[in-house]
Amino acid sequence: MLSAWPMLVALGAGFFLIGTVVGSFLNVCIYRIPWQKSVIWPGSHCPRCWSAIAPQDNIPIVSWLALRGECRSCGLRISARYPMVEAMVGLLFLGAFLIDVVAAPRGPWYAIPTDRLIAATYHSIFLALLVAATFIDYDLMLIPDQITVTGMVIGILMGTIWPGVRPEPSILLPQGSTSHWQGLIAGIVGMAVGAGLTQGVRGSAGFLFGREAMGLGDVTLMGMVGAFLGWQAAVLTFFLAPFFGLAHAAWKVLVNLKKRLAGAQLSSADREIPYGPYLSMAAAALLFAWPVVWRGWAAGLFHSLYVVFWWLMGVTNIPD
Ligand SMILES: [Zn+2]
Repeated sequence: MLSAWPMLVALGAGFFLIGTVVGSFLNVCIYRIPWQKSVIWPGSHCPRCWSAIAPQDNIPIVSWLALRGECRSCGLRISARYPMVEAMVGLLFLGAFLIDVVAAPRGPWYAIPTDRLIAATYHSIFLALLVAATFIDYDLMLIPDQITVTGMVIGILMGTIWPGVRPEPSILLPQGSTSHWQGLIAGIVGMAVGAGLTQGVRGSAGFLFGREAMGLGDVTLMGMVGAFLGWQAAVLTFFLAPFFGLAHAAWKVLVNLKKRLAGAQLSSADREIPYGPYLSMAAAALLFAWPVVWRGWAAGLFHSLYVVFWWLMGVTNIPD
């Protein structure tokens, strides 16, 4: 029997390279979508000297390194964030390939299951959308609908066509989602729970504290997370996100304290922290850790909640 490894290495390299190209396109989206500009036309150009960027200067990561981070025509410094986003998306795509294809049960190289490759593609699309949402939210404190609504549509559509791409128990049905109808329902329930939970907390916080804790973009972002990963993962994402935010918040408190000690006034930007990046990080972390998280811990937690729910409803012979 032939070894699967050469084929897997080639596919893995393919996922990484496609990821860097997608990352390059996301750089354009991150820069242009908030301003309602076309992401296709005109082609990339230098913001200072306006010269078009030649195809050989537009190769992900490589071109930035070759040009030492400067425009070829005028020498304007180009942010290191561009190649970093390209490398990051490449690694995320490779990660999706590793968990969905390499770590999954499979036969020899010629029998790499198509549904596993589809799952890796599905998760790659999801991760790319999270990256775009993260950087736009970080820059401008908003998450455009072009990202999140597109994401909800793709998540529900792909989850309906290939119900097996969603993580294990995307809906509380005995055997998970297996038919197209169950895939469709899992997507819609996930979207409703993700967006509904976030809107509920946002509304209560607004009522209690009289100020916005989260934006409407966070609501649609969580709708997208639910549409892609199902309602359980959306609930866990929501409660995991603050832990990712704590580190940044602590750092910001220190910076603000330093400003106050120096006698400076705090601007509204000093007080606000975009929440989308932490929701995105939590969703990505759960995606990669899902098999361990679900079987090791969350399945039991959700089963307890399920039992409590039916007990509160007065049902004692609980359906399993
Ligand atoms: Zn230039």
